[in-house]
Amino acid sequence: MKNKIWLSTPHMGGAELKYVNKAFEENWIAPLGPNVDGFEEDIQNYLGVNHVAALSSGTAAIHLALILLGVKIGDEVLASTFTFSATINPILYHGATPVFIDSEKDTWNMDPELLEQAIKDRIKKGNKPKAIIFVHLYGMPAKVEEIISIADKYEIPVIEDAAEALGSSYKGKKLGTFGKFGILSFNGNKIITTSGGGALVSNDGDAISKARFLATQARDDAPHYQHSQIGYNYRMSNILAGIGRGQMEVIEDRVKQRRENNKFYRDLLKEKSGVDFLTEPDENFYSNFWLTTILLQKEKFSYDREELRKLFEKENIECRPLWKPMHMQPIFKDHPSYLNGISESLFENGLCLPSGTNLTLDEFERIAQVFNSI
Ligand SMILES: *Cc1c(COP(=O)(O)O)cnc(C)c1O
Repeated sequence: MKNKIWLSTPHMGGAELKYVNKAFEENWIAPLGPNVDGFEEDIQNYLGVNHVAALSSGTAAIHLALILLGVKIGDEVLASTFTFSATINPILYHGATPVFIDSEKDTWNMDPELLEQAIKDRIKKGNKPKAIIFVHLYGMPAKVEEIISIADKYEIPVIEDAAEALGSSYKGKKLGTFGKFGILSFNGNKIITTSGGGALVSNDGDAISKARFLATQARDDAPHYQHSQIGYNYRMSNILAGIGRGQMEVIEDRVKQRRENNKFYRDLLKEKSGVDFLTEPDENFYSNFWLTTILLQKEKFSYDREELRKLFEKENIECRPLWKPMHMQPIFKDHPSYLNGISESLFENGLCLPSGTNLTLDEFERIAQVFNSI
């Protein structure tokens, strides 16, 4: 059997061990320390944002953002249905209710028209949504301006799930910096990784201070352990932040390579009919193309997405269907949703192709051969 080609694997830049070793030398083996401070500063500078808290995961970042926005039992939170479950789970941690919004076809992200329709309808039903979580899936910027202006019009705060979109931008401004809060993920398959980790991003310094407080067991200012709020253990380890510092040295290369991967697939498939790519709608949208994704039309391409996925699987190459929408998931199916059929059709026909930044020429050749055999 040939070596497995994975969808997206960690790709160390070389400097990570330098920071990790320093943590060992100085005995900063803790969920705080100079690497955590340094990593936060690296992200701040890269995004052009004032405050960042490094956390144990992107999921933890979403959870804290919801707490900081005061989301409680019985509240409703509007969220993209076309996403990974980590966007939604923290809403349920609070006994709040997710209300799912379908995608538009240009960016595959939250449809602003449906968003406004849903807001009006929820208000009419007597439950004004407490927050909006919108996602930039696969690195593609959502229709940021439309979404933010609707949120502003109804005065609903926005959490921007940029877990897949570090390095992407909208009108020249980095994603993760548009909402009241942005969240990032450094899980193993994301564009950069700390093996596991995340960050909460905001221009509100008080909110980020509060996030740090909540993330370290909500310890009040006293010589003994004094608590007047529920706390969490959500800070990032100083060891893992060392990996993050090394990764931030190569972030520009990683974004460039993902975009080159995307171009490789476009060139490879340009003569084939029945294949469509997720494409930047215009020059305002700049995607990191975290994963390259395609939509298949079986009548023209002769394979549907499952048939193509299996063809790759036979060659020991991992491809994956697009995210299964949240309103279709057994655990979330009973929550309200505002749908237009787009995310369901994307799930039906879409496939993620191997998109790691450390794919070799040999591996690209093996991928090309599968397509050329069709
Ligand atoms: C990865 C991911 C998350 C969660 O990040 P973790 O660090 O794995 O907790 C949230 N939202 C989306 C869209 C993701 O892809």
